Amino acid sequence: MVNIVFGLLFLLAAGQSINFFSLKQDIEIGSESATEAEQSLSLVANATVPHRYVNGIGRRVAQNRTLPALNYRFRIINSKDINSAGFPGGAIYIHRGLLEIASTEDEIAAILAHEVSHVASRHGTAQLSRQLLVQAPIAIAAGLPASQVWRDEITKLGIAVGMDAPFLRYSRDQELEAGLMAVRLLAEAQYDPNAFRTLLEKIGEIQTGDVSRAPAFVFNHPQSQTMTPEIAERIEQLATLLTRQSRADTEFRTFRSALLKLPITSVDAAPTRPRQRDEGSDLSTAVLPNVFTDPMDYYRLGYPTGWQITRTGAPHGAIIAPADGVQSSRNGDNLNHGVMFDLFDISVPDKSLTLEQATNRLIVYLRQRNPSLRVVPGAQTQTLVSDEPGLRTVLIGNPDASSEPEVTWVVTRLYYQSLFYMVFVAPADEFPIYQSVFEQMIRSARLR
Ligand SMILES: [Zn+2]
Repeated sequence: MVNIVFGLLFLLAAGQSINFFSLKQDIEIGSESATEAEQSLSLVANATVPHRYVNGIGRRVAQNRTLPALNYRFRIINSKDINSAGFPGGAIYIHRGLLEIASTEDEIAAILAHEVSHVASRHGTAQLSRQLLVQAPIAIAAGLPASQVWRDEITKLGIAVGMDAPFLRYSRDQELEAGLMAVRLLAEAQYDPNAFRTLLEKIGEIQTGDVSRAPAFVFNHPQSQTMTPEIAERIEQLATLLTRQSRADTEFRTFRSALLKLPITSVDAAPTRPRQRDEGSDLSTAVLPNVFTDPMDYYRLGYPTGWQITRTGAPHGAIIAPADGVQSSRNGDNLNHGVMFDLFDISVPDKSLTLEQATNRLIVYLRQRNPSLRVVPGAQTQTLVSDEPGLRTVLIGNPDASSEPEVTWVVTRLYYQSLFYMVFVAPADEFPIYQSVFEQMIRSARLR
C-alpha cells in the first residue's frame, strides 16, 4: 500500500494529472459545495436583466457537443469582487465586479467560456484529488474516496468546501488548458476569441504591484505574466474563421446599465478569500502553548510542548522540531520533521517581486540545498498568514535514495522587503500525523 502512495506522489511530481472522482461524483460534490457556498452569497435574482443576459450567453457557449453532458448554469454574485468560480458539475458563479470590467458581449462570453472550460475539463476534482493525495495518501491508497465517504474524509481533513474550496483554485497547466478550450468555445459560438485576451489584459492592469489588493481572480486563476504563446496562436487561427458581423451592442448596453444600477446587497467582506478561522487563536494557544518570538519581534510563532528551538545562525531564523526531528551532520543540521522559518531577503533594486515570484526564488534556494526537492504540480494554494495573502507550496523530496520520501510544505508571505517563510517537513508516511500541528502553526504566525 505504501508503495502505491509513493508511486502516486511521484506521478504527481512528474506532472501527471490524476482524478480519483467520476463524472457523477463531480456533479454530487459540486452541487453540495455550491449549495453550501450559496448560503453566504448574495445572488442577483433570476428575473433581472443582468441574470437573463449572462445566462443567455452562457447557454450559447455551453451548447457545444464536444463538452461532457453537465448541467451548466450561471449565476451572478452581487459583489464588487473581481472573481468567478466554477464548481464541479456545472454551477458557475460570476462576481459582478468581473462583469463590470467587461466592455463587450464577447468579453462576457470569454469569462463564461473560461469557467465552462474548467468545469468541462474537471479541473476542480483533479485539484481535490491532488490535495487528498498530499493530505491523506494512506486513505487514498486504501481505496478512498468512494461515493459516500468523500464528504466525511474532506471534513475530517479540514478541507474547505463552498467558496473557499481548494477546487476553485487552479494550476498554471490547468489555466493553459482552460484558456485553449475557452477560445475554441468562443469561436464555435461565433464570439470573438480575441475577447479572451483583452479581458485578461484588463484584469492584469488592475493587478497592481500590491499583492494584497490583487483581484481574487488572479489567485484562483494564476495566469502567466504575458499571454501564453499557445493561446495567442490559437486565437489568431480561430479569429480567421469568424464569419459573423460585429455584434449590435444595444443589448450589451442595456445589460450594463441594469447591472450598474443594481444596489449592492452583500457586505463586501469577500467570502471568496479564505477566512481567518475565528477559533484559530484560541485553538492555537490551547494546542500550541509555547511562543517563539523573533529577536527583533518582527514575528511570533506558536509551537507544541516538547518541541525544541535550534537557532540556525540567521538573525531571524530558527528550527523548531521534536527532539528527534533534527540530525546534525557535517553539512549542518538536517530537518527530518519539524519546521524551519526565517525572513528571506528579496530586495531587488527598482523592482518589487510578487508573492509568487518571491516564493519561486525561495524554492530555487531550497532546491540548491536539497536538489531532490520537486514541486508537486498544482499543489500550490492560497492561504492566509497573519491576515495577509500567503501561499502554501507542496514539494516532495528524497534526500538520499535509501530514505523515505519527505513531504515539504513551503508557506510564504511578503513582509516589507523580505519573504517570511515556514518550511514544514515530515516523511510522507508520517505527514498525516504532523499535518494538524503544521496547520495550527501556520494559523498561529503573527507578523508585526
Ligand atoms: Zn481559470
